[in-house]
Amino acid sequence: MQKIELLAPAGNLEKLIIAFDYGADAVYLGAKKFSLRNLADNFSLDDLKKAKDIALKKDKKIYLTLNIFPYNEDLEELPEFIEKHKKFCDAFIISDAGIINLCKEIAPEIPLHLSTQANTTNYLSTKFWYNQGIKRINLARELCLNDIKTIREKVPEVELEVFIHGAMCMALSGRCLLSNFLTGRASNKGECTHPCRWKYYFIEETRPNQIFEINEDNRGIYLFNSKDLCGIFYLKDLIEIGVNSLKIEGRMKSIYYVANVIRVYRRAIDEYYENPENFKIKNEWLEELKLVSHRDYTKGFFEKRNNIDTQNIESSKYIRNADFVGVIVGIDNKKITIQARNKILIGEKLQIITQDFKNYDIIINEAYDLNNNKLEVIQPNMLFIIPRKDLWLNKNAILRRINFLK
Ligand code: SF4
Repeated sequence: MQKIELLAPAGNLEKLIIAFDYGADAVYLGAKKFSLRNLADNFSLDDLKKAKDIALKKDKKIYLTLNIFPYNEDLEELPEFIEKHKKFCDAFIISDAGIINLCKEIAPEIPLHLSTQANTTNYLSTKFWYNQGIKRINLARELCLNDIKTIREKVPEVELEVFIHGAMCMALSGRCLLSNFLTGRASNKGECTHPCRWKYYFIEETRPNQIFEINEDNRGIYLFNSKDLCGIFYLKDLIEIGVNSLKIEGRMKSIYYVANVIRVYRRAIDEYYENPENFKIKNEWLEELKLVSHRDYTKGFFEKRNNIDTQNIESSKYIRNADFVGVIVGIDNKKITIQARNKILIGEKLQIITQDFKNYDIIINEAYDLNNNKLEVIQPNMLFIIPRKDLWLNKNAILRRINFLK
């Protein structure tokens, strides 16, 4: 049986390597131009060549985002951009009809995936896009399982991709100009500053200097405040409906976020295929998803389209139950070399997470710099060495500090 694809975000080359290492089948990424998430690092042409080499060796796929809504002046550089980048990706992700035509002219051999920005919500538009030469459609996040099932049945020939985890917009995905209006940064050009999560007040026309607090309840207002999607509960339904790819949001997230979310979904997908009848969501997976930085989770719209539970009435703040503190960059029989990403104190209790879903508690009792000097404290970005002892680890295992395990 062809397994459903697990599609991960890759904001840069390091995140791509981690995503593949922790079990993604494919990644989506942006080049320096024409991609949403312009505030992510993104890929130079050189990075993209390296990414393609890595993907080929691991038999993984790369999808390049070209999903801005361009203005006329954006179009000039596009033909050359497509020509230069087409060799290094397995599909273009697009949302603009003009770019679709341009890709078909310049790179007819590269499959086209329609971005969620195109807001495909029904089988007629799915069919329409398929007839335009679109191979895969990332459906609008605002659909329920029944909607997805009907689209699958009515248009069996197109590949369907569904967002299963990560941040959501309070507007129909991407149809929002709050960021453009308030900060001059265009969300449809990948520069959203997330003003939907800011605090708002109320002013009456004739009293311009008087600012009123608006309170839906005693904690404030939640007009624009969306929770983060956690759709793992619907994994079995989505596989059995015949969805082809499950997409994780988050090109701006840390490598720890990518690693941990991907390893949870990898484990869940593999366990489903091992024993579909007895498949159950495990508590340990949910616990791990709570250990990455997130806003309160919602099950999204999979059960019903107008689910008001997607609105966050608790807080718009991120929940950080664990901090990313380091990544293993080298390992031999005697020692482990780690790149710190946060300050680490000697004697503190940390945890190492691995690609094969194991967690090891460790106490860093001794650490050395690369010249073998003993360290009293480890600063962010420093390379340091600890004795290996009997830890069974691979490169790219990640160190975290669990905040409630003081
Ligand atoms: S401001 Fe919020 S709702 Fe609007 S595009 Fe940005 S993230 Fe989405």
